[in-house]
Amino acid sequence: MHGAVSINPNAIAKISVYGVAIPFHALGSRWVGRDKPDHLDSTIVIIETRSGLSGVGESCPIGAIYLPAFAVGLRAALEEMAPALLGQDATQINQVNRVMDETLFGHVYAKAVIDIACWDLLGKHCAQPLSQLLGGRFQSRIPAYASIPLRTPDDMVAMLKQKQSEGFTRFQIKIGDDPIEDCERVRAVVAAGRDGDLFMADANRGWSQADALRAVGQINQIDCYLEQPCATYRECLPVRERCTRPFILDEVIDSPQELARAIADDALDALVIKVTHAGGLTPAKIQRDLCLSHGIKMRLEDTAGTEITRAAQAQLAAATPLSLQLGSYTFVNDRPATADGAPEVLNGMLHLNHEPGLGVTPKMDVLGEALAVYA
Ligand SMILES: [Mg+2]
Repeated sequence: MHGAVSINPNAIAKISVYGVAIPFHALGSRWVGRDKPDHLDSTIVIIETRSGLSGVGESCPIGAIYLPAFAVGLRAALEEMAPALLGQDATQINQVNRVMDETLFGHVYAKAVIDIACWDLLGKHCAQPLSQLLGGRFQSRIPAYASIPLRTPDDMVAMLKQKQSEGFTRFQIKIGDDPIEDCERVRAVVAAGRDGDLFMADANRGWSQADALRAVGQINQIDCYLEQPCATYRECLPVRERCTRPFILDEVIDSPQELARAIADDALDALVIKVTHAGGLTPAKIQRDLCLSHGIKMRLEDTAGTEITRAAQAQLAAATPLSLQLGSYTFVNDRPATADGAPEVLNGMLHLNHEPGLGVTPKMDVLGEALAVYA
């Protein structure tokens, strides 16, 4: 066995772990915690094989209480899994995932960064853009959406107008505060919409079931989607029953199994698939395919991140029919780019290149010195 592994040119020979600080301005959600971080801590991993091929991935939790994921835990999980990953064939991605699952239970956000790096590497190995390997490319331009932070209705309308002027036509309205004030926010923003604009009111689990039931009658009068009103799947169900607007689930769906249950319960019209929350491109693709086969709309995106995250979500979005997409996120903020070649954001659209894998080249001067190297 040892001999067979040692001659495999695709065997993982080195795993390098980098950390990047991302300026963070909370969108108003209470789910970032008591001490709102002013920076997020993103982890970028580069995998190299014996033959010298490399792949890159990124995973960036939003603080420590948004999801069961945090930056320090991510790196500890990588340290736990690295010895088992070295020597594995990076192009055998299901086997790589199996080895990770046999080494560490859970911690899918850490496994995601390895999974994404292996997909990038496989794309380069096959000389194909990842979208080609994720089912085939439907389009190279993906509509992005702009998120409007929870503020006063006037401030939110002003932000809408700014984003409209930048070319966006799809908008997320952050709510999840007082349910009656939230309805005023949504009504004001949607009223300032232009023909063809699409609105998604996202409570980010901020409403109790009772709050949501108070609000839903008014939401039903407004032309918008309602996204993730309550903290748990169970609390969302009675809201879904009374909501006549299209209903989006986000944070409570964390696996293909949970999605299959929600589909069987008719609990959603649309799903947010965050690639690292799903556990990487492998499980995200399963969720994508379940949605495709049931006619459920999707937002293909991620929790947070930089150019590498933008490229991963965009490759999956490029391989998914636009008719079933609500839009992707841009991950644009004030910091140096971590990679060249990532999809450009132009007039509210993401534009993909045709390079192999994720289509990005990490900027080593921005990544700086590795925090850990396993070899
Ligand atoms: Mg959401």
